[in-house]
Amino acid sequence: MEEQITPEEGAKSILERLREGGLWQPHGLGLSYVKEGDQTVKLISQDNSPRSAQARIRMRVLIEDIGWKVDETICEIVEVEHLSLEEKHMKEMMKRQELAQSWQCQCATPLAAFPLEQGVWKHDGQQEMMLPSGETEIVEQWLVVIECPVCDSQIPMEPYDYALLAGDDSMLTYKTSKMVYTAATRPEIIEMIDNKLSEALIILGTFCPFNGDLLPPHIRGGVCFYSEIKEGEEE
Ligand SMILES: [Zn+2]
Repeated sequence: MEEQITPEEGAKSILERLREGGLWQPHGLGLSYVKEGDQTVKLISQDNSPRSAQARIRMRVLIEDIGWKVDETICEIVEVEHLSLEEKHMKEMMKRQELAQSWQCQCATPLAAFPLEQGVWKHDGQQEMMLPSGETEIVEQWLVVIECPVCDSQIPMEPYDYALLAGDDSMLTYKTSKMVYTAATRPEIIEMIDNKLSEALIILGTFCPFNGDLLPPHIRGGVCFYSEIKEGEEE
């Protein structure tokens, strides 16, 4: 039997990993928290539904149980009844992107101004995650390390946060120490196959077939163009 983690342990691990100014939206509760300072989260919005109102009380108890504070003074009640799922999703994405623009380095340089395309992906072990259903799941942890162009600080980011900052296109290209992979679009794949040029494409698995590097989950199973990084090209 695997040891089960409690909801408290799950919340604690999420909050500890969350960056300052980072957004936490526990799945399906209609609540949005932003981490503020060491052990405080600010509730910025709650859906206008009885379910969300109840979850707000439960979450407050849970968060306080692990020794964190919840600041509810500026909580906005969001009307969600009239929104479609897609509209809700759009709204959330906009909020997240807006927050990401406010993230800063310790030297006050906005993270959005970093050379984000040079981010380096690092495998950071694996962790047991608590799902909202109460089940647990083993998840590989990855970080993208970005470097401040002003003070040279190295800042590790969650891949999701990195994509928010760098844009979805940043997730279409991936470099190992030896190869560059670029995701092919459907029309590109069709064109290559029709013209019998399929050897220009590769379907990726868990490891880089050229040097055995572990690949991050988002490019596994992708159909990609590939090219070798020439000596000295890295710089
Ligand atoms: Zn800096």
